[in-house]
Amino acid sequence: MTATILDGRAMGMEIRAELREDIRRYVEVRGQAPGLVIVRVGGDAASGVYSKAILRIAADIGVQAHLEQLPEVTSADELHALLLQLNNDPATQGIIVQMPLPTHLSQNMVADTIAMEKDIDGISPQSAGNLFLGLPSFLPSTAAAVMEILERTHTPLAGKRVVILGRSNVVGKPLSMMLLQKNATVTVCHSRTINLPFYTRQADVLIAAVGRANMVTAELVRPGATVIDVGINAKPEGGVVGDVDFASVSEVAGALTPTPGGVGPLTTVLLLKQCVEAAWLQIGGRVQNVREISKSQ
Ligand code: NAP
Repeated sequence: MTATILDGRAMGMEIRAELREDIRRYVEVRGQAPGLVIVRVGGDAASGVYSKAILRIAADIGVQAHLEQLPEVTSADELHALLLQLNNDPATQGIIVQMPLPTHLSQNMVADTIAMEKDIDGISPQSAGNLFLGLPSFLPSTAAAVMEILERTHTPLAGKRVVILGRSNVVGKPLSMMLLQKNATVTVCHSRTINLPFYTRQADVLIAAVGRANMVTAELVRPGATVIDVGINAKPEGGVVGDVDFASVSEVAGALTPTPGGVGPLTTVLLLKQCVEAAWLQIGGRVQNVREISKSQ
């Protein structure tokens, strides 16, 4: 193996230690911990696992988090009313609604309803607009996790060729904006891209966020490139595998995130980090600590 393994778990532990200290100072000032509410409608298994991970890490660092579990039959009016109530609740500083929602409920309604100052996963049109304009904003946490890995490992981005596989609203599109702010030359590929290897083989940094197990093989990777694997795909025999074929790509890449243990653990930690930032902002403190996505390298 030639690639350096970029250990998301270790980075997550470092950030947790920073957050514990930050929350201790917040409690000194405010007299209570930052509050996070996770809203989950129905019983999607993956969102159940994610909710438990958020609750576990919140308890570990000192965020007061709880799960509002609603039945599958919850109406749009009921969900809307709960979100309005949480927007006005002084004990709640951050709100996250677990996806996917049951099909009768609209993700757009949720994105339009959560108050911008509590939108710690950056799903609202206002947050997306701020990101597009290069203004400080809460960021979709998976995209933020990718940037955190690149920043913590001092991966050069200015002037570099970055290729993103996937253009979803939660990963590919926001990442393209964040990377442009860092002066990278960004190419976004998707299911209609013709001759994918032509693009991927030019990448100094290759980010895979597709949802197809092992699709990125060594032939798609430029020797020495940094490869970030966002994909999480369930294996038939249990466990998960990424979008990147770890065995072959680790022989050619310069650096590579593993799956599991790469982007995933950081996503949860960065969601909580943004909750703590929201809490400080809501008491008028420390505005400078909101993620300055407009900052250039
Ligand atoms: P998504 O909404 O399904 O988007 C997938 C993207 O991949 C789409 O833009 C699609 O193109 C593109 N695509 C599909 N087949 C392709 C191909 N053959 N070549 C190139 N592009 C192709 O997925 P997502 O929500 O962004 O998630 C992507 C992956 O990341 C999933 O495995 C998900 O489980 C994982 N994920 C991980 C985390 C984490 O914390 N690590 C968090 C969220 C998601 P079109 O737009 O043309 O359809």
